[in-house]
Amino acid sequence: MTLFKPLTQAERNRLVDQWAWALSTKTRPVLVPGEAILAIEAVAASVAGRGRKFLNIVTGPYGQQFSDWLRSGGADVVDLSTPYDCVVTAATVEEAIKQHHPDAVAFVQAEAVTGGSNPTEAILAICQQQHIITIIDAVSAIGAEPVLMDSWGIDIVVVGAQKALAGPNGISAVGVSSRGWNFIETNREAPRHSALSLLDLKNASDYIAPAAANLPILEARALLSAFEKCEAEGLAAITDRHQRAAASARAGVRQLGLKLWQCDARSCSPLVTTVRLAAEQMTITQPVGMVTPGDGALYGQLLRLNHFGEAACEQRVEEAMRVLAVLAAAPVEAALEAVRKVWVKENED
Ligand SMILES: *Cc1c(COP(=O)(O)O)cnc(C)c1O
Repeated sequence: MTLFKPLTQAERNRLVDQWAWALSTKTRPVLVPGEAILAIEAVAASVAGRGRKFLNIVTGPYGQQFSDWLRSGGADVVDLSTPYDCVVTAATVEEAIKQHHPDAVAFVQAEAVTGGSNPTEAILAICQQQHIITIIDAVSAIGAEPVLMDSWGIDIVVVGAQKALAGPNGISAVGVSSRGWNFIETNREAPRHSALSLLDLKNASDYIAPAAANLPILEARALLSAFEKCEAEGLAAITDRHQRAAASARAGVRQLGLKLWQCDARSCSPLVTTVRLAAEQMTITQPVGMVTPGDGALYGQLLRLNHFGEAACEQRVEEAMRVLAVLAAAPVEAALEAVRKVWVKENED
């Protein structure tokens, strides 16, 4: 079975190149043999230490989790939190930076659980001006919206292929700028000889050691082939498709007489649309197609429409409208019409 043959150096290199392509970077992202959540914890462990101050933006549960990990690493953490139905503004971030003078600003670009996307480019511009290190969880952003590591000046960014890139979830990546590496290397408390050590993974990627056999082989092969599909479609086409899916979902939701969970439609993520639950009877306990119940504390408060990856298409959004229409006991025709209109209009562009 060729599937089980060890990975070649060329295959490993190819994976690094593919992640660099997705992140629009000339740096070499580090491959993490695990789900993105492991990569995020590794980043927290690698940057956190006593005497370091972080401004951590919390617009959803992933941001909150990152804050907890930074704190357990001994760092001084200031949380800039919003209610989970809105995102931060760049002006609030700028104000908080002036007040707290952090060494680094951390945030989640798009929270899949809340369906909110933070104003990433604007936040990064402020941080760059003030020479502050930036750390981003872009797992739910990559492929659905731009993540321009080099031109936006992102120092550390975590990505996975399991959302918009329609890939496997077993190998993640961390993009690290040279400033980012310096921030990690100068942290005396950064783990080494540990599953959470980005420094160890960097050495493995730099081939200082002989190609470490630490990547799950089947996941690697699946990722290589998922990326081949992405490259054939093109990154801009993939983000376009997600923007269309989200715009059409929002249009349909409004026609059904339902409200978006996010207070400001401009904060809506292209990956997931969240719908505010008005009536008890709309609660579901199990996913119905791409419609899923709210996670954790958001259960019963919202429904998620997971129009990402292969589900970022007109047909799947229409199916979701049929599910919502039944739950809301509303006629579906106008919603379907609104969905179609968005796809037709976009196709004509
Ligand atoms: C999905 C997601 C992750 C990754 O979680 P996994 O459990 O590894 O799939 C991380 N951050 C955000 C914002 C996500 O949406």
